[in-house]
Amino acid sequence: MLGRKTFLLSTGAIVGSAIAMHGSGAALAANGEGQMQASDVLAALKAGNHRYATDHSTNCNNNFDRRAEVSEAQQPHAIVLGCSDSRVPPEVVFDQRLGDMFTIRIAGNIADAPAIGSIEYAVAHFSSPLLVVLGHQNCGAVKATIEAIEKHQSLPGNIASIVAAIRPAVEPLIGKPGDVLDLAIHANIRAVIQHLKASSTILTDAVKSDKLRIVGGYYRLSDGVVEIPTA
Ligand SMILES: [Zn+2]
Repeated sequence: MLGRKTFLLSTGAIVGSAIAMHGSGAALAANGEGQMQASDVLAALKAGNHRYATDHSTNCNNNFDRRAEVSEAQQPHAIVLGCSDSRVPPEVVFDQRLGDMFTIRIAGNIADAPAIGSIEYAVAHFSSPLLVVLGHQNCGAVKATIEAIEKHQSLPGNIASIVAAIRPAVEPLIGKPGDVLDLAIHANIRAVIQHLKASSTILTDAVKSDKLRIVGGYYRLSDGVVEIPTA
């Protein structure tokens, strides 16, 4: 799918995009007039999440016209590393269209090598300027990690590899006052961002040259709001 030659040739390519109005809210569309800014993408995601959380989703990612529009090529403006949890599909909670988001989903929104490679591909190939590491309230993967640590248990099969990835961020919080699960979910988001920056020169270089901004997001199951730091 990701041919090596194509990948290398496209590294560093910049395809311009800009904000365009779509339906009842802002959506993004490529227009070739310059480099899209991370702050514009972040604003569009916040606007989309507001529509979703207030029951005003446009569901603009599901129509015939959009499907035809992106059938030949994609130009996603955002990359999301999110959890596999069935209640947190990024395109839905940000009310984005087909082709708007390059999404990697894995339990606990952890950054294993294939996930990092997928993000690197999107940065190099599409020049997507924003990466959101999206954790969420009551994350089962983080909860399972806490329980495994507290009960000195190991989880069966390959599930253990997820716990092993989350464990370093969570372990220091065990026994601390407050909502340990919620603290651990936030700590895991921060740890994943640090890990991404520490393990990928492609991402580090993109951040240093202002071609990529990485932010953490926390989705509240209770009201549908994604908390993201102010741009
Ligand atoms: Zn989760």
